[in-house]
Amino acid sequence: MNYPMFEDERTVISQIERFSQEVLAPKAAQLDEEATFAILHLPAMAEMGLMGMNLPEDAGGLGLSGPALYAAVEAVAGACGSTASMLTAHFLATDSVLLGGDAVLKARLLPDAAAGNTLGAFALTEPQAGSNPADMTTYAVREGEGYRIKGSKCFISNAGAADFIVVYAKTDKTAGARGVSAFVVEPKAITGVDIAPNERTMGLKGGHVFGITFDCWVPEANRLGDEGTGFRTAMKVLDNGRIEVAAQATGIAAAALNAAISYAKERKVGDHPIGDFQGLQFMLADCATELAAARALSMQAAVKRGTGERYSTESALAKLYATEAAWRIADRALQIHGGYGYTRDFPLERYLRDLRIFRIYEGSSEIQRTIIARGLLS
Ligand SMILES: Cc1cc2nc3c(=O)[nH]c(=O)nc-3n(C[C@H](O)[C@H](O)[C@H](O)COP(=O)(O)OP(=O)(O)OC[C@H]3O[C@@H](n4cnc5c(N)ncnc54)[C@H](O)[C@@H]3O)c2cc1C
Repeated sequence: MNYPMFEDERTVISQIERFSQEVLAPKAAQLDEEATFAILHLPAMAEMGLMGMNLPEDAGGLGLSGPALYAAVEAVAGACGSTASMLTAHFLATDSVLLGGDAVLKARLLPDAAAGNTLGAFALTEPQAGSNPADMTTYAVREGEGYRIKGSKCFISNAGAADFIVVYAKTDKTAGARGVSAFVVEPKAITGVDIAPNERTMGLKGGHVFGITFDCWVPEANRLGDEGTGFRTAMKVLDNGRIEVAAQATGIAAAALNAAISYAKERKVGDHPIGDFQGLQFMLADCATELAAARALSMQAAVKRGTGERYSTESALAKLYATEAAWRIADRALQIHGGYGYTRDFPLERYLRDLRIFRIYEGSSEIQRTIIARGLLS
């Protein structure tokens, strides 16, 4: 895609596209079939610099612009949705440190995370607080020179292998969203972090998610920013994360469309390639139109990400449209494959299963609509 990026970034993106197709794509079906955690790709991804793509160069990252980061995530997702979900969950954690942490914490955590020496997780959701995370009950109380964190989180991507988990917890139970603070918890170094087995999911089977119970102590130095600033940090992180979800959706949708185009040229019914049928041509045209619209909306958000202005609305527009359009695109692409599309011999059914979560996590489609409407009415 000809996204508006810097010339030197184009070289990096074409290397990432090649890596994704040559290294990630060949294992995607096996990861899905066996539900193998995509962390197996971490060493190769780290060597390419992928684990720090979202971070500035002074934090050890690639310092990519918003459009280039979008293109990179799209390339990874187009090759393997599970790997992209592991990667972008790591970004949610490192973004939390970047946006909320002080210089000491950033210097301690980010270079290693960018180099892929450590893996991060982002723990906001709780069993009774998903769409409205301000309802969380996990809390942190002062104990000695630090905090005791108590509570539980659910559906936390990467947690089972994470070296650090950014945990959002109430330091003031009476203050709603303003009572939330963020903490870095390093589960391999302390006791009191109990991580349940990987959830069994419909799709993104190689992107593992876990429930976590906390009764652990962390030093004050592990708090990200001042007490009460955690919710604001989480919302800024999700503004970025939603653009990355849009990128994952368009990456998979583009792969589905490409598969449908090839199949429409090859598959014959009678003497005709099925691509001769106008009904299928219209489906392909609708797919291409929606894919272009999703990418254009996403670019609007990705470009604004670099300006310093707020882009919550643009990010919600991109996530809402791209994730819903991607579902329609992959569904049409499966239809074009007929019965073969429904089998595991082709990747279409995996694309659909992988795409389904994008309309739910990091704020469901309904929550994106409330964000967009709030912007209109404010
Ligand atoms: C595979 C996977 C990976 C995940 N990874 C992470 C992670 O790494 N970190 C993390 O913190 N969380 C993660 N999550 C959690 C995810 O973000 C939540 O599941 C999501 O935010 C929805 O919350 P919920 O499941 O509690 O649904 P609920 O909040 O219970 O919502 C149920 C339904 O009600 C609708 N609804 C809720 N409120 C409103 C409203 N105001 N108006 C209209 N409709 C509404 C929702 O849209 C939804 O359809 C993950 C989830 C999954 C399944």
